[in-house]
Amino acid sequence: MKTVEQHISDVLRLVEPLEPIELDLLRAHGGVLAEPVTSPVSLPGFDNSSMDGYAVVAGDLAEASEDTPVRLPVVADIPAGDASAGAIRAGHCARIMTGAPLPAGADAVVPVEWTDGGQVNVSINRSVRVGNAVRRRGEDVEEQATVVRSGVRLGSAELGVLAAVGCSSVPVHPRPRVVILSTGEELVEPGARLGPGQIYESNSFMLTGAVRDAGCEAYRHGFIGDDPAAILDTLDDVLLQADIVLTTGGVSMGSYDVVKEALSRLGTVRFEKVAVQPGKPQGAGTVGESATPILTLPGNPVSAFVSFQLFVRPVLRRMRGLPPEPLPSVHARLLAPVTSPQGRRSYLRSILEYSRDADGAAYTAAPVARQGSHQLSALAETNSLVVVPESVTELAEGSIVEVVQLPAAH
Ligand code: AMP
Ligand code: MG
Repeated sequence: MKTVEQHISDVLRLVEPLEPIELDLLRAHGGVLAEPVTSPVSLPGFDNSSMDGYAVVAGDLAEASEDTPVRLPVVADIPAGDASAGAIRAGHCARIMTGAPLPAGADAVVPVEWTDGGQVNVSINRSVRVGNAVRRRGEDVEEQATVVRSGVRLGSAELGVLAAVGCSSVPVHPRPRVVILSTGEELVEPGARLGPGQIYESNSFMLTGAVRDAGCEAYRHGFIGDDPAAILDTLDDVLLQADIVLTTGGVSMGSYDVVKEALSRLGTVRFEKVAVQPGKPQGAGTVGESATPILTLPGNPVSAFVSFQLFVRPVLRRMRGLPPEPLPSVHARLLAPVTSPQGRRSYLRSILEYSRDADGAAYTAAPVARQGSHQLSALAETNSLVVVPESVTELAEGSIVEVVQLPAAH
């Protein structure tokens, strides 16, 4: 059996960051920037007022106080967006609004609160230092400065910055298009009637959600029966819209293991056992003329889920142009004993909570009661996976363990 790490490095070798494309800002949301963006402008682009008040020459107000206000004629009225005001001379001032260009000659802004608010003449009852309430050209961003680095995922803040420097489109690694295909003669679409021996198909829904949570486009192709010819035909159909294909089911040792049977023949997909529990049978390779990557996950719902988190997520991250790092983990105190098969690393679903206690351990992990790889219900409340190393077969309550934090839904 190969180790988890070996399998991760093998699957990562199947993919590269997707070729960058130029996208409008809003379509680029969630994409990963493929080149640094430098600002074509300064921010602010011109000296301007940060308050509503009066643009003045600070020296005129040196003696101003509550008792001896200084009275100045108001020679202009400058709203935001108006750059037509001429220069002001010493002994004069201009009414100015937040964001309006500071007129030439002025070197400070007096907030309206320090004045009587006059429109023809104004009385100012405080002195002001040079530069007061003035936002200087370039003090936020200098022209040609890098505003967003390459490799950054474009969130709302980045979109704001890019728009503020006048950028309307950016080169990003597009979101990978992931086709999801389940297999199994026993599967029935949720909402339809179950016949004897049939079950509702659930893996493709779970994977579609997980793929979206991982920032990719998911195409749920639904499911097909256990017919090797059907799977090859279906792959032919879906490859056009896929940057990568995920399948579930049909990869273990049974005689109806259709995915394994159909894809083994191609010679481009390898089926192996990984020393992990759940998720031992894994297949990975490429299919079709453009050698589209394919990962074939086991059919048991919990196995498929854990396989996604361990193996598929890093692959999708690399395709997005992000470092293919694993999910973050913390150390936690185990709230119940657990067991694990010798020679395989277990990932046990658990509920991780942050709490301070006398021992100082900040996290506790409560393994869920039903750990069978077909026992899906506990997945819904799970937020983490307790890791039991290959050489360990049992851990007592109170043990300090590594716990992988599952991504929060968003
Ligand atoms: P398989 O790997 O195809 O032998 O499937 C293993 C187990 O997972 C069987 O009990 C299947 O019925 C179940 N299973 C496989 N695919 C799905 C699916 N898409 N949704 C729900 N259960 C599935
Ligand atoms: Mg099956």
